[in-house]
Amino acid sequence: MASVPQSSPITPAPVTDTEALIIGAGFSGLYQLHSLRDRLGLSVQVLEMADGVGGTWYWNRYPGARCDSESHSYMYYFSDALLKEWQWSERYPGQAEILRYLNFVADRLDLKRSVRFNTRVTGARYDEAANRWLVSTESGEQYRTRYLITAVGCLSSANIPAIPGLADFTGRWYHTGQWPHEGVDFSGKRVGLVGTGSTGIQATPVIAEAAAHLTVFQRTPNYSVPAHNAPLSEGFKRYVADNSDRIRQVMHSTPNGHPFIIAQRSAHDPSEHERKALYESAWSIGGLRFRSVFRDLLVDKAANDTASSFLKNKIREIVKDPATAEKLADIDHPFAAKRPPIDTGYFETFNRPNVTLVDVRADPIERITATGIQTGKAHHELDVIVFATGFDALTGPLKKLNLVGRGGVSLNALWEAGPRSYLGLQVSGFPNLFTLTGPGSPSVLVNMPVAIEQHVDWVTDCIAHLRKEGIARMEPRPEAMEAWSQQVQAAADATLLSKVPHSWYLGANVPGKPRVFMPYAGGMPRYRQICQEVAQRGYEGFEFSR
Ligand code: NAP
Repeated sequence: MASVPQSSPITPAPVTDTEALIIGAGFSGLYQLHSLRDRLGLSVQVLEMADGVGGTWYWNRYPGARCDSESHSYMYYFSDALLKEWQWSERYPGQAEILRYLNFVADRLDLKRSVRFNTRVTGARYDEAANRWLVSTESGEQYRTRYLITAVGCLSSANIPAIPGLADFTGRWYHTGQWPHEGVDFSGKRVGLVGTGSTGIQATPVIAEAAAHLTVFQRTPNYSVPAHNAPLSEGFKRYVADNSDRIRQVMHSTPNGHPFIIAQRSAHDPSEHERKALYESAWSIGGLRFRSVFRDLLVDKAANDTASSFLKNKIREIVKDPATAEKLADIDHPFAAKRPPIDTGYFETFNRPNVTLVDVRADPIERITATGIQTGKAHHELDVIVFATGFDALTGPLKKLNLVGRGGVSLNALWEAGPRSYLGLQVSGFPNLFTLTGPGSPSVLVNMPVAIEQHVDWVTDCIAHLRKEGIARMEPRPEAMEAWSQQVQAAADATLLSKVPHSWYLGANVPGKPRVFMPYAGGMPRYRQICQEVAQRGYEGFEFSR
């Protein structure tokens, strides 16, 4: 990589040239770096705003932060050597262990020397004449690259709700996705937690144990299935070590990239008695596997109703106070049509004397005051507010990069009515820009490492092809992008996922965000096949220039 002084006297900052530039050093950025640098031999620079690797798992250090994918499936499968050298300790990996794992991979593959930490990208502009991307950072550095790859994650742009009065609050407040490294001491504190998605459901039991009092502000009630987390037995660790090929094969064959097969039976097949027994058995296994008990839970509302009613009854059985149980079980969407959380003692926590549930749909939050949260009917005195209010998903992290493509068109303007891409990988007008796990790809609907490895492998093969063929630039044809956007919508419409109006898959959690179903819901095997076929047909749908 050469550092050359730029000739213009107006912009004296030196520009660092690199063949490929990757933004982000999480799961996807690290593997992309390894693939381009160590397999293809390119000069590669990674820019990362944190002071360490890890992406999501660097930032999300909130109490109870743990992955919902089972640990033996939440890792890279591209290297047998790496697989052999790492053992997880629990059924689901906690945040600290995942961060240790990613540091282990980065050290083992000597990746950190190619990462510039504490470096936030503030803009990237395509220079058509030079066929290069000019990338600028907050501290005024400039990089010039042929291939620009965003590895910024799907859930990395915190959504802090614009509730009036936040600036007046005299206590401390936090967003779960920007958690302080030193942790938060809740002892003796009255804590308010806003949000009951996967994050709020994980954090609630842990905060309740530590705090004097916890008030949970619930807008949309949510299903949750027990995770049944536990240390992994030596036998299971041996099974994983001896069966990595088989596990990889299963993950690659299932729509969500998880290491379990979805049953072929319909929820309508068994008698009511048998169905209940099957659900009980799935409940006792727990986690995301619960969904795999019937094949039609996500496509058939009547089938889904059987799961929904089983899960609502579980809430009523667990939560002792009937009024609280009713507020928690008053769920208005089909099970798993929003991202289904899994938990460790979430509903049980509402049996604690120091926990209160506030239904902010019935009694909306009006404002934050100096000493707490004012709803229509009451003032809740608080020392700490925790916002478990999610993310500006998929498009948020990309929009923050201020990408400007051919003809000075900005991605943010192009996506004003919602994201459009070809395969979630590229956008017309933005040559040689690759968006790992971007909107329009399976991304958040899939066990992320599986989605990431497929994307990185495809991008790596594609760049190898461009270099071999002497192709200077590549971008999708506008009509291919339009057709793919329609396929993304059609895939969502074939499921119950697009029928939930208040889902972040649709952008509904961020005020003003266009309602477009963002991830591809057609399943990972189908998507993988489409991507393979596109490549085999000479990258059908893309246009090249030399
Ligand atoms: P989320 O699913 O978007 O949930 C945010 C919660 O905050 C929702 O209950 C939402 O209510 C509520 N909320 C937002 N704005 C509000 C407001 N102004 N007033 C009151 N309530 C408000 O976010 P998340 O829980 O952080 O999860 C996001 C995604 O991250 C998950 O779906 C999952 O994909 C991933 N995640 C994974 C794990 C894991 O693997 N263990 C853990 C955490 C997160 P509404 O529903 O009414 O909008």
